[in-house]
Amino acid sequence: MSNWADNVETLISQKEIHARIEQLGRTITLDYKDDELVLIGVLKGSFLFMADLCRQIDNKLSCDFFGLSSYGDKTKTSGVIRITSDLKRPIEGKNVLVVEDIVDTGLTMQYLLANLQTRKPKSVKVCTLLEKPSRKLVETQIDYLGFEVPDVFVVGYGLDYKGRYRNLEYIGQLKEESLA
Ligand code: 5GP
Repeated sequence: MSNWADNVETLISQKEIHARIEQLGRTITLDYKDDELVLIGVLKGSFLFMADLCRQIDNKLSCDFFGLSSYGDKTKTSGVIRITSDLKRPIEGKNVLVVEDIVDTGLTMQYLLANLQTRKPKSVKVCTLLEKPSRKLVETQIDYLGFEVPDVFVVGYGLDYKGRYRNLEYIGQLKEESLA
């Protein structure tokens, strides 16, 4: 049996994640009713959340992706945000729902929302799976939240450390000694 994830302590189980996503999907479905929406997943961390969430939303929708990077290989944000991949279609006049993995300092979300507003969408809401309230540097809009997490570096379910651990089915804390 492989022990590649022995250094990860479970914080949120696969079962808890899926139950919460079902609830979020139901709420979003009711909120938008007959309004078509565009889900914008923030790459790369949100790819699994996006895949599971979109299948729990029973509305007419399309999916697009925005690639942003601020971390490099470190566990603290550099504060310098880079666009690594832009949207493929215009969002003017559309109802946009941003799908993010985690809001930490809030700087990435602040940057992203300012960027999206210049494209004149009809509405913009934010759905994030995780939030670390204790690390917030700027107030950011969050309309739908999965879970709050403590001030620890989390991996799994799309979130990485140096590119790894995205394929874990659960969200866990990487033990301190593994953060080199
Ligand atoms: P913020 O700009 O809010 O500080 O950070 C947002 C981005 O930083 C997230 O989209 C995510 O990619 C990354 N991030 C923040 N905290 C964590 C964490 O605990 N684990 C991982 N893997 N990424 C994080």
